[in-house]
Amino acid sequence: MKRISTAKNNSRRAFLKSSAQIAALAATAPMTGFSPMDLVAKKKAAADMINGIQIGAISFVDEGVDKVLDIVQQRAACNTVFLTTFTYGRGLAGRQMPGKKFPDHGSQTSDESTFHGGNYATPHPQYYNNTTIKVPHAPEIGNVDILKEVLPAAKKRGIKIYASIEDQWKSDVPGIQDCYEIDLMGRKANTVCLYNPNIRNYWTSLVTDLCKSYDIDGILLFNERSGPLLNALGASHFQSIDSSRVTCFCEHHQRAAKEKGIDFKRAKEGYLKLDQFIQASLKGQRPVDGYYVAFERLMMEYPEIAAWDRVFDEGKHQVLHEVYDTVKGINKNLQVGFHIEHVNSFNPIFRAARDYSQLAEKADFLKVVAYNVCAGERYANFIKNIGSTVFRDVPLDELYRFNNHLLGYGNEAPLDKLPTEGLSADYVYRETKRAIDGVKGKCKILPGIDVNIPVKDTSRQCSAEDVYAATLAGYKAGADGTILSRKYSEMTMAQVDAAGRAIRDGLKLKS
Ligand SMILES: [Zn+2]
Repeated sequence: MKRISTAKNNSRRAFLKSSAQIAALAATAPMTGFSPMDLVAKKKAAADMINGIQIGAISFVDEGVDKVLDIVQQRAACNTVFLTTFTYGRGLAGRQMPGKKFPDHGSQTSDESTFHGGNYATPHPQYYNNTTIKVPHAPEIGNVDILKEVLPAAKKRGIKIYASIEDQWKSDVPGIQDCYEIDLMGRKANTVCLYNPNIRNYWTSLVTDLCKSYDIDGILLFNERSGPLLNALGASHFQSIDSSRVTCFCEHHQRAAKEKGIDFKRAKEGYLKLDQFIQASLKGQRPVDGYYVAFERLMMEYPEIAAWDRVFDEGKHQVLHEVYDTVKGINKNLQVGFHIEHVNSFNPIFRAARDYSQLAEKADFLKVVAYNVCAGERYANFIKNIGSTVFRDVPLDELYRFNNHLLGYGNEAPLDKLPTEGLSADYVYRETKRAIDGVKGKCKILPGIDVNIPVKDTSRQCSAEDVYAATLAGYKAGADGTILSRKYSEMTMAQVDAAGRAIRDGLKLKS
């Protein structure tokens, strides 16, 4: 309760401060040519911007809280830190990825053998009574509670802290193996079922703990999972195709599907036939009528395939809604946002399943991934994947151009040069604009910017100029800020400075 009243005092102070600013602005208005209210609206919009950077706990431990926050504020020109608080994944936590060159700050020793993951704050047991999952404190940072360490220093500087939490697990989490999905062949997968009540309750328990135990400003939830149809097709950039391992066919999923009148036996039969089609396609065994026609025929014969995939997406969105409602039930001023993964930008089928306007109804902001440099390598992989099954009859460069038309991409590099050239800053502009138009003003849009995201050594490496152009492109498109991604421990100082320049230049467009 004490924390909530502190938040109220803070917002009252902020109100008084902004009232004074509004009065000052109104006094200067006649000189600018804008009406006082226009000017007030413009300045308010600039003040509401979320200019953020994703940082893992280890960077604060390695480099010191004040030093990192100095850099955040003075060099990156950010007013918000998305602090990774829960994950078992290396994308958002840990030092530089093993095997990649360290940036010019932080520890230069790989944490490959010490990285573990978990809760980087302190789990308070009283909030986890309705879930069997007990996530311990992340061991690699010792006894440090990262929110307790960073929050007071950040508040003093007026930097906002959002807790980033991610659906990435390890098999040694107590209780987790009982929540694993079941694949098409009845085997236990190593991913968690989003319909399992212990998983759903874990997410609401975690955000309750974070929002009640700490004076944070909000939550950013990451969940990059795709349903069985997309996984069967390998319709993503990062995976190999194994259509026999698609999920989920567990009892919780079956119950959810039954409530929607979907026949489990028919769905399973459809996915088994889809598996046969995919396996044969990968071997180049062309169906009599061609790959695409055979696939389309299967989808018509088994509408349960698409329906079962939809049940997966609804399970995922249900977790987002429950997180949103839980946080808002604790304090409606806390902000809740969701990370929208990269595949949403490359894959028209995935796009069809993600209506921005619907997502925006239960979100204060969406972090739309628009990583443009690593996109070259990722997008090329995606085209290769879909070109190995459903669209196998189409030459890859033609398939690539066709897909560009479907997605509204502009004039990007040809397919064979994609990994070495990446996508343009204009891609960031287009993806940001599409999201802004899509949410119809219902929530903020923050493009996720590629700042040295690791790629193969033979692919284009991100430069400071790339970061400047991409960051500024988001502001030019009208974004409500930015999120420098994926994590500070991957970024060079030249890139951080370039992002800072772009943010300052971007904010000028608003004022
Ligand atoms: Zn399940």
